[in-house]
Amino acid sequence: MDLYISSDLTDIQKAVSEFCEKEFSQEYLQRYEDEHNYPRELYEKIGTLGFIGVGFSEDIGGAGYGALGHVVAVTEMCRKLPGMGMAMSLGYIPSFVVDISGTKEQREKYIRPLIEGKYVAAFSVTEPDAGSDISVLKTRMEEKNDCFVVNGSKIFTTNAGYADFYTLLAMDGNSFTALLFDKTVIDDNGPRRFEINDLGRKMGINTTMSGELVLSDFHVPKECVLGERGKGKKTALAAFELSRVVIAGQAFGGMLYGYERAVDYAKKRKQFGNSIIKFQSIEHDLVDMYVEIEKCRNLLYRTAWLYDRKDPESNKYASMVKLTIPENAISVLNRCIDVFGGYGYMRDQGLEGALRDIRITSIYEGTNKIQKNVIARMLY
Ligand SMILES: Cc1cc2nc3c(=O)[nH]c(=O)nc-3n(C[C@H](O)[C@H](O)[C@H](O)COP(=O)(O)OP(=O)(O)OC[C@H]3O[C@@H](n4cnc5c(N)ncnc54)[C@H](O)[C@@H]3O)c2cc1C
Repeated sequence: MDLYISSDLTDIQKAVSEFCEKEFSQEYLQRYEDEHNYPRELYEKIGTLGFIGVGFSEDIGGAGYGALGHVVAVTEMCRKLPGMGMAMSLGYIPSFVVDISGTKEQREKYIRPLIEGKYVAAFSVTEPDAGSDISVLKTRMEEKNDCFVVNGSKIFTTNAGYADFYTLLAMDGNSFTALLFDKTVIDDNGPRRFEINDLGRKMGINTTMSGELVLSDFHVPKECVLGERGKGKKTALAAFELSRVVIAGQAFGGMLYGYERAVDYAKKRKQFGNSIIKFQSIEHDLVDMYVEIEKCRNLLYRTAWLYDRKDPESNKYASMVKLTIPENAISVLNRCIDVFGGYGYMRDQGLEGALRDIRITSIYEGTNKIQKNVIARMLY
């Protein structure tokens, strides 16, 4: 019995696992990566089956398992195939800001269809000159009659181009405000006021698009404010706390993917007349990975549990898992490639792709150094 995962959540975990076993394949992932195309049909399927909704609250169509539920679902998806699990979860992780800070109407309008797999979200904070330091955003909104006029540019927006709704952080006088709008607002403005440029291929997660948004006199109706006007930074940071935990779940799933495949391979692969797992150096390396995995599992579940209880420690823990699990996942996947020898280097095996995909988990939603800054501020 697990200390944190109830038997109901274990059943959901099994259902996600069985689905991914059937539907996620390396060939399917490679096809979508080569086409640089988001696997929308699969996203719709996981929505229909309730897997997007595991962590969302019941009043909006979710299963109500909170951060722990999100972590369990994302871990299982990434455990089967990190690139695909990440693509699926990146469809809804940017919606946390709306779920946490939206009004009842906004959540009904955007989160309910997202849980059903009908909507993909985007959350746009980063700018060319404002990455880790979001206090120097240049995108500005100005009040004019019945709307806000927004000018500026954003970079690295995940799902730009095919997102059904966007949340954007802008300077509003001397403070920040978050704006939430959908395709109808974009269409009403016409293409020249909201330009989307695909940043092209990346090291990993190539089924997803990372885009530049250029806003030129972009008109947003006044009811599109998300959270409290002038408190946009607080709105964004509240969402980061949850998404950091769930991104750590992506990395944790990636660790399991590599480790389980490496154990299986080491048992089957024979050299010098023996299964390579019989060589102590390989066996010890696998043991080291197992110990790291169990440490990460405990820290991750505890963090999600603290988050769900609104514990004052949870923000520090969110940064701790976001710091340590991606670092461990990168190290484990790298060592798993060694276990596979030359075969680990080949694309079809999936390991090199998993390492490239998981690499981003230590960068987006705050780099490792930024997580250390957050932890230090809370400790000293
Ligand atoms: C694939 C991908 C998807 C992304 N998705 C999104 C998205 O959907 N929405 C969004 O808004 N953004 C997104 N991002 C942006 C991402 O969050 C930023 O890239 C990240 O926060 C770092 O910002 P930066 O790239 O400008 O690096 P910089 O901030 O320029 O940092 C460069 C280096 O300096 C270090 N550094 C910076 N400040 C400090 C400091 N105070 N102390 C110590 N070290 C420091 C950093 O750790 C890093 O090593 C995405 C990025 C990528 C690559």
